[in-house]
Amino acid sequence: MLKNLLKEVISLVAGKQAEDIINILDTQKYINEFVIAKKLNLTINQARNILYKISDHGLVSSIRKKDKRKGWYTYFWKIEILKSLEFLRENLLKKIENTEHQMKSRETKRFYVCPRCHIELSEENALINNFTCNECGSILVLKDNTKLIKDLRKNKERLEKDLGIVKEEILKEKEKEEKKRIKEIKKEKRKTKRKSQISKLSKWKIKKGQSSNLKKLKNTKPKKTKGRKKTSKKRR
Ligand SMILES: [Zn+2]
Repeated sequence: MLKNLLKEVISLVAGKQAEDIINILDTQKYINEFVIAKKLNLTINQARNILYKISDHGLVSSIRKKDKRKGWYTYFWKIEILKSLEFLRENLLKKIENTEHQMKSRETKRFYVCPRCHIELSEENALINNFTCNECGSILVLKDNTKLIKDLRKNKERLEKDLGIVKEEILKEKEKEEKKRIKEIKKEKRKTKRKSQISKLSKWKIKKGQSSNLKKLKNTKPKKTKGRKKTSKKRR
């Protein structure tokens, strides 16, 4: 399901022929642009053109690595799922709004149509033309919008269903990201805990060392402290 939604996004921003890029782009790791081009059977420039189009909407992210021998940069790409889904959500909302607007217009306004050429005019334009067709001179007839309104309503329902699916996927994705974030926080906590344990231990060691050194200092001449410094340097 998610894959199909992402394909739809790519199709919206880079054209239908580009949607197969979703089969290659990963959600976690970055993929080499040359690998993407090869797998899509495209030249590197064709692949880059597609990637730039998607990138213009912020739906992919990239990192670059310098080739030490050749001196140029190679880009690696990753799909941004949440941003892509949010893009699709906005697109659907616009379509729904547009459909509602059309429905309202059909429900409240009158339209006239030529029975022969099927040219449609708004009531204002029909009035200007004296209710006759500009093309063939036939008398315009009032258009029955019943079927059109029904189709628009069906279309709106379909769009709303799609919107529901996209919203669900967005929630899932956000939950995943939240889990990942919590995991990272826990990992970080364990790390700092370990660090503080180590530093406590080393402080304790230093304390122990200092006290014994102090004893040494009390009992010996200052010359020996130089020797101690040297050994501590060596240890590093
Ligand atoms: Zn006509």
